Amino acid sequence: MLQVRGVKVRYGGAVLALQAVSLDVPAGAVVAVLGSNGAGKTTLLRSVSGTLADHGGAVDEGSIEFDGTSVVGRPAAELATKGLVHVPEGRRVFTRLTVAENLRAGSFGVRDRARRAAAARRVHELFPVLHDRRDQRAGLLSGGQQQMLAIGRALMAGPRMLLIDEPSLGLAPRMVDRIGEVIKEINEQGTTVLLVEQNAHMALSVASHAVVLTLGTVTLSGAAADLAADPSVRDLYLGIRPETEPGTPTAEATRVPAGTGARLGRWEL
Ligand code: ATP
Repeated sequence: MLQVRGVKVRYGGAVLALQAVSLDVPAGAVVAVLGSNGAGKTTLLRSVSGTLADHGGAVDEGSIEFDGTSVVGRPAAELATKGLVHVPEGRRVFTRLTVAENLRAGSFGVRDRARRAAAARRVHELFPVLHDRRDQRAGLLSGGQQQMLAIGRALMAGPRMLLIDEPSLGLAPRMVDRIGEVIKEINEQGTTVLLVEQNAHMALSVASHAVVLTLGTVTLSGAAADLAADPSVRDLYLGIRPETEPGTPTAEATRVPAGTGARLGRWEL
């Protein structure tokens, strides 16, 4: 559904944020992107969703196709009407508007009234609290509820693929679990998900496949279960010290050699 090939991104014509990044998101999958601060995770989502230029960035090389059509240089509003919708980092809800107004804002591009009503029903079933608090200002919601509202607003556009950036950031562990469950449920209802997360526990429990970005390059990719078993992921992202000797190949994840960014993992389509 989404095919990223050899993508190189710079900000301001200078800062190199992604170099030769490639990945696939098959229809129906949840693919997680892991990596530490500054690895390029957010930049990857911006490149796909048409919001890169708003941040002074540009795709210098490579291709990004959604359903076989290039998305590079296309505006976010146009991509949203094609079913590609971004939930940015930081729960950017309209704090002075009510919950209901925030949700309505998500469906501006949807002309069909029946589709808008169906999307609203879906959001209220997934997040009953948003229905209960529909007339309250979004700024009065808790952090977790605001995250639900941000996801709910994106669902109002009727996406076929959701790009979700760091939904667990700053949330209590129980709420992180809840957000993970919701992402699974959204996926089971038929929405494909590309999920950026620093919380590798949550991301790998939700995802079918995952990639690790390191300094703008994909360094590891494979099935989520294989990445969860990989010693470097366990050590760096799950906080579990490897019991094997360093470098012992125990997992099935594909290590992507430096300089071969166009190469894909075992789950290449
Ligand atoms: P974090 O989790 O901290 O957000 P990240 O993995 O999402 O990290 P990015 O935000 O994509 O990483 O940043 C990748 C690189 O691009 C970093 O070196 C960052 O400083 C740089 N960068 C990001 N946004 C901009 C911008 N608007 N202008 C200039 N450089 C930027």
